[in-house]
Amino acid sequence: MRIDIATLFPEMCERYLDESIIGRAKNKGIFEVNCHNIRDYTLDKHRRVDDTPYSEQKGMLMQCDPIFRCFEAVTAGREQRPHVIYMSPQGKTLTQKRCRELASLSSIFILCGHYEGVDERVIEEIVDEEISIGDYVLTGGELPALVLIDSVVRMLDGTLSNTDCYEDESHYSGLLEYPQYTRPEVWHEKKVPEVLLSGHHANIAKWRREQRLLNTLKKRPELIDVAVLSPEDLEIINKYVDFDGTSE
Ligand code: SAM
Repeated sequence: MRIDIATLFPEMCERYLDESIIGRAKNKGIFEVNCHNIRDYTLDKHRRVDDTPYSEQKGMLMQCDPIFRCFEAVTAGREQRPHVIYMSPQGKTLTQKRCRELASLSSIFILCGHYEGVDERVIEEIVDEEISIGDYVLTGGELPALVLIDSVVRMLDGTLSNTDCYEDESHYSGLLEYPQYTRPEVWHEKKVPEVLLSGHHANIAKWRREQRLLNTLKKRPELIDVAVLSPEDLEIINKYVDFDGTSE
């Protein structure tokens, strides 16, 4: 997968993308990322990329032209136009499902806004999709872009040791993960659940499914309403939910 990021702060993105699991995936060639400084594409002699919004007294808005010129330069000569995403609090909220879909694309181009955002006309001209990372406003699109890249790259083949690593995790199947434990067996008088020490795979799988359901019920009950559940799952849920619908 090839990822291009158009930003006013390329170093901010590069630094993060060089570290840990994502950095290793990059070094292994699982994905390629290029961070482009939008300021390099302005024709203004003072390297300005923003101006005041029409009929507003507050803030600055990123201008169309440097962004458009950056996009044109980065995509020039390519056989396929990348899928263009503008990180924006006005976009659809990012989900695990959307991350999985994006992981199947061969190239994406991510536009990061700053200040008051971006002139609407360049969004109309080049953007395929606006994505938000939540209903709150940040100062820039760099953190949202990194959130998106991290969540997409970890689903590319070879980033994690195997697909179980993310398929078992929260949100992949619509439920949260079960609780997990590591050594020591007893900590602050709290014991690791006996079943996990038993080595009995079928019982462990049953316990995990039950815990997954209960964890979701307790922490994010609204996810249960839309999850795909088997009759056995419903039986487990009914056992733990009071007649008025509250969990014990
Ligand atoms: N004036 C814009 C509005 O009210 O919709 C907000 C602009 S915000 C201060 C500056 C930039 O940060 C945006 O252009 C966007 O790229 C990024 N941004 C802020 N919050 C975001 C979020 N929740 N998700 C994705 N991007 C966000």
